[in-house]
Amino acid sequence: MESDENKAEINGKPELVIETDTKFCPLCAERIKSAAIKCRFCGEDLLAYETKQKDAVEKIIYSEHPPLIYSLVQYLWIILTLGLILIYYFIKSRQVKFIISTQRVKVETGIFMKQTEIIELFRVDDFEIVSPIAQRILGYGILRIKSSDRIRPNLDIYGLPDPERIYNSLRDCVMREREKRGIKVWVNA
Ligand SMILES: [Zn+2]
Repeated sequence: MESDENKAEINGKPELVIETDTKFCPLCAERIKSAAIKCRFCGEDLLAYETKQKDAVEKIIYSEHPPLIYSLVQYLWIILTLGLILIYYFIKSRQVKFIISTQRVKVETGIFMKQTEIIELFRVDDFEIVSPIAQRILGYGILRIKSSDRIRPNLDIYGLPDPERIYNSLRDCVMREREKRGIKVWVNA
C-alpha cells in the first residue's frame, strides 16, 4: 500500500521507488524520500525542524576562569606589593569560573566547596559590554547582565576576552530562548 502511494507521487508516472532512497519523517514517522526537505504527509519543514533540534542542544560559548590580570590597575598593585599580590590574584582567578552557553549563564565559585549560580537566558532582560579603559587596553571587557532572576538579577562577567564576539553570540541566543517561551523579544536600541 505504501509503495502504491510512492508511485503515484512521482510526477504521476508509475516509477519504482528504491527503498534505500528513503528516510522516516521525524514527526509523523511516515516513509519519505531522503532528499525531501518537506514531509509530504504531515507538511513539516524538515530543514527548519533540523535547525530547531540543533538549537535545542546546549553549546558552550565561553567557559573560563577570569584571567589573573585583566586590568592595568592590577599592574600598579603588583609593583606596589613587589609581586606579593599575585598570590591573591591567582586565588581570586581560580575560585571563579564563568560559563556562557547557548541556554544559560553559570558562575561557579569556590575552590573546595563549589557553588553554582545559574541564570537562564530567557530570564535575561538586558545586557551590555562595559569596557573600562584599564581593561580595554589589555583586550578585556565586562559583560553586564540584567535579568529577572530573583537570586542573581545583576551579574558582571569581567575579564572577558573578545567581548564583542561573545556579546553577538549571546544576543542571538537570548532572543531565541525568549522567543521559544513566547516572551516579548528583547531589542537593544
Ligand atoms: Zn511527516
